[in-house]
Amino acid sequence: MALIVHKYGGTSMGSTERIKNVAKRVAKWHDAGHQIVVVPSAMSGETNRIIGLAKEISAQPDPRELDMIASTGEQVSVGLLAIALQAIGKQAVSYAGWQVAIKTDSAHTKARIASIDEAKVKADLDAGKIVIITGFQGVDELGNITTLGRGGSDTSAVAVAAALKAQECLIYTDVDGVYTTDPRVVSDARRLNTVTFEEMLEMASLGSKVLQIRSVEFAGNYRMPTRVLSSLTDPLIPLEEEANSGTLISFEEDTHMEQATITGIAFNRDEAKITVLGVPDRPGIAYQILGPVADANIEVDMIIQNQSVEGKTDFTFTVPRGEYAKAMDVLETSVKAHIGAGSIVGDSKVSKVSVVGVGMRSHVGIASQMFRTLSEEGINIQMISTSEIKISVLIDEKYMELAVRSLHKAFGLENA
Ligand code: ADP
Ligand code: ASP
Ligand code: MG
Repeated sequence: MALIVHKYGGTSMGSTERIKNVAKRVAKWHDAGHQIVVVPSAMSGETNRIIGLAKEISAQPDPRELDMIASTGEQVSVGLLAIALQAIGKQAVSYAGWQVAIKTDSAHTKARIASIDEAKVKADLDAGKIVIITGFQGVDELGNITTLGRGGSDTSAVAVAAALKAQECLIYTDVDGVYTTDPRVVSDARRLNTVTFEEMLEMASLGSKVLQIRSVEFAGNYRMPTRVLSSLTDPLIPLEEEANSGTLISFEEDTHMEQATITGIAFNRDEAKITVLGVPDRPGIAYQILGPVADANIEVDMIIQNQSVEGKTDFTFTVPRGEYAKAMDVLETSVKAHIGAGSIVGDSKVSKVSVVGVGMRSHVGIASQMFRTLSEEGINIQMISTSEIKISVLIDEKYMELAVRSLHKAFGLENA
């Protein structure tokens, strides 16, 4: 007998029919003698719908109130799943985040989990119940409902698994694992049997939304075995077969035999680039530009500063596209005059494409192969950033899919 956490995403919970299938799958695992905790997302489209309602009323809704409503989709899901399990003869109980409690900080819409009380859940499991806990939501010290950022149910699930010391966390989704790139963009992308934790972390942080980045961080910090697999198979397929399907995030460097130099291609459409022109080249300037941006809670990603000419330089960085207007506003109002910059220009239609792979450590020439491939397609590179296991480039968004497809091919990642 093992304690296992299942997470089901929006598509997997997308209709009452699908929820009945989830119940059958969960019951199969419970019948095999396992203790099961389920963390579902809202039904697909629901979180967008609810947030859309708030935005119909106000362009910038109060984050506390946004969390109050955005979290409700998950509450519907847990109740429906409990009913579906009870309908097939299982004992099941659902909880909202605050009832568990999943405690977070107070950063509404992007809260971080601080602790999870596991006593109540353990008692229910020991009493033979299947426990269903809302994904995406928690509660802060003052009792306010918080949410963990879009895609946050992945993080709820892995964090719950870590708190309960589960044997494994199974992330059921609408694809049957982690692929060399998003299979919606490259149809012959290949499923990976394993992906190292480090690579998964890079891929998630570089835009592969199959797992929310914080869920990967939790998996790494607690060394929680985490597997991505399909919820769209027949729910009654043999458990053994299901348990070994999909993609396992591995913590062992040497399980990496199947991989060549590059493991995958990640991309993020929603980037924006900002350049502060004519900046005096003196100590403290980067801080004076980026300090106010950070104070506005805007995440900065790639950064470059040009060579200075006659004491002046240009300073360029990227921010998430959704924060572009806010970042421009901060720079215009609190930075430009203060540092004596010339002007501020930006482009909100850029995307980032990255090649990722631990194999890069022992191979030279990956960057030149990447740049050659892009140059053969006539794609201009605007910015570059690298780490030990990734190379990212910023390009015009209209070439993003072409770049992903041609790199996928150039690095031989397609299905044989
Ligand atoms: P869920 O609702 O189950 O959380 P998501 O939509 O958040 O599902 O994540 C699954 C989706 O992630 C897939 O449908 C796929 O389009 C996308 N995706 C992006 N990159 C990858 C990748 N490298 N491998 C698999 N899926 C990917
Ligand atoms: N329902 C939330 C969202 O749409 C959380 C999740 O699905 O993981 O972002
Ligand atoms: Mg998701």
